[in-house]
Amino acid sequence: MDKIIIEARVNELATRRGNPHVPFLPREIIADATACHDEGAAIVHFHGRTADGAPDHDPAFYLETNAGIRARSDILIHPTLGYVANDADAKGRFAAVEEMMKSADTAPDFAPMDCGSVNVDWWNTQEGRYDTTELIYKNSTGTLMYFAERIRHYGLAPYLVSWNVSFTRQIEQFLKMGVLAEPAYVCFCMTDEIIFAGHPGSEAGLDAHTAFLPKEFRTVWTAVNYKGDLFQLTEKIIRQGGHVSIGLGDYAYTADGRNLRNAEVIAKVVAQARASGREPATVAETRQILNMPKIRLAA
Ligand code: ZN
Repeated sequence: MDKIIIEARVNELATRRGNPHVPFLPREIIADATACHDEGAAIVHFHGRTADGAPDHDPAFYLETNAGIRARSDILIHPTLGYVANDADAKGRFAAVEEMMKSADTAPDFAPMDCGSVNVDWWNTQEGRYDTTELIYKNSTGTLMYFAERIRHYGLAPYLVSWNVSFTRQIEQFLKMGVLAEPAYVCFCMTDEIIFAGHPGSEAGLDAHTAFLPKEFRTVWTAVNYKGDLFQLTEKIIRQGGHVSIGLGDYAYTADGRNLRNAEVIAKVVAQARASGREPATVAETRQILNMPKIRLAA
């Protein structure tokens, strides 16, 4: 079977209450990216954070972190556009990427497109109520087409996130329109426990995603369980030819009562994949599988 693309999702907006090894600052993220690459990850995804863990979407954070990652390995860089922490217009949301594209040392390899909009309020499990009630992750069709145009302009690869079937259907329309090229790299975002915008992180939740992959276009899919344990599904994902995106950003992974580091989570996926006959894809192999274009820096 095909090699497996493993992505390390090192921090998202996760706190250190669940796992103290969540990296926040550039040097912490750089160290984790390097260690995850050594274990077999081909892609790293991270969010800018302050020393106390608040979101930090200052382009300077990404420039420093990307350059540090680049200096240590060839792992592919997948930045964020800030999720709900960045509520600027389409141009403003893409501004950090525009800055990154000014130098080969800081240019990423992917830029994300979450292909729809969802309510992403936080559920308080202990108290049985929502902690927020107005959080909407808004990605209008026009905004997505703007992102796609900028992504194509720079020769980046679009990282297409699908939170539910309606997102996948929008991806299909973009493929029909030529807004996106094949193969479409689709990340099925499942959500558990404290956020309900995605499919449940269960076999049925994943099956409902894969059932609606566009049939007439070439696609490559990976899966995330935001706020849930993806290891409940990794065997199935590996068996079905999917790819795995995982890390402490999504879930406070432990083993034998011990908090795991990001690189240990990656090592666990690699061991599982190898046991099923799938070797981790190197960076060069990942580029080939996804037919990634060549990057053009900003003039
Ligand atoms: Zn993210």
